[in-house]
Amino acid sequence: AVPHGAAPERQAILPAPVLEMKGVTKTYQRGGWFGARAVVKAVHAADFTLNKGETLGLVGESGSGKSTLARCVVRLVEPERGEILFHGADLRPLSRQGWLPYRKRIQMVFQDPYASLNPRRSVGRAITEGPVTHGVPPAEARARALELLRLVRLDESAMERFPHEFSGGQRQRIGLARALAMQPELLIADEPVSALDVSVQAQVLDLLAEIRQRLGLTMLFITHDLRVAAQICDRIAVMQHGAIVEQGPTAEVFGAPKHPYTRALLDSIP
Ligand code: ADP
Ligand code: MG
Repeated sequence: AVPHGAAPERQAILPAPVLEMKGVTKTYQRGGWFGARAVVKAVHAADFTLNKGETLGLVGESGSGKSTLARCVVRLVEPERGEILFHGADLRPLSRQGWLPYRKRIQMVFQDPYASLNPRRSVGRAITEGPVTHGVPPAEARARALELLRLVRLDESAMERFPHEFSGGQRQRIGLARALAMQPELLIADEPVSALDVSVQAQVLDLLAEIRQRLGLTMLFITHDLRVAAQICDRIAVMQHGAIVEQGPTAEVFGAPKHPYTRALLDSIP
């Protein structure tokens, strides 16, 4: 979309979509008692665009479909409709083999770091195993892990220790180091601070903001907490009952909400 002969500084400010969701729809079928079937429309025709270097906040109440939508990107959920474009290429029709190169480029961190940290594996192994699997020489993976531990403000001795020896906030930082070790182009964070005390939340958010700046990360940040979203997100997409009802720059969406649901969410903040 860059006009031929445009000056480089002009090109640099044109938004470059990293992730585009178009009409993504996911319905869960739940088997009920005695064969009764429940159908849950978790995500319905969701559209959003995430540009390079930007943090998009996906907000909405619990059950609104945020996790389902995010999980579609990394194939933890298979949507029945829609396009999931990563740098313009649709990920959805890819075979398992075709998906492999993308697995490294899109990393996800979860509310509970135990979702990605094996309690039986040392922190060093947790941070190095992904890169080593993808062909990084072990010595280099180790050097990268030590650098990442510094980045998330943990001591080198963490390498030999195990996840249960750390506090919740430290564990979340280890999960972050593990994801960053793959040098992802897109980081999806699903309620990464929701399980933490408010003071620890602030530390992890500050760290995340600093890392994002330093690495130029593109981030999809999911939270039900509007205050957290306001702290870290450049743009906001509001989800209600599986649909994105409003999106725009954080200051606009929170400062002058257009949709009644956004207004209700903002009014509910004590
Ligand atoms: P959020 O992350 O916003 O809390 P979710 O995406 O987890 O929302 O859930 C959206 C809806 O889909 C909810 O009604 C939830 O109960 C349902 N749901 C989520 N995961 C599953 C699943 N694996 N099987 C059946 N229903 C699910
Ligand atoms: Mg969720």
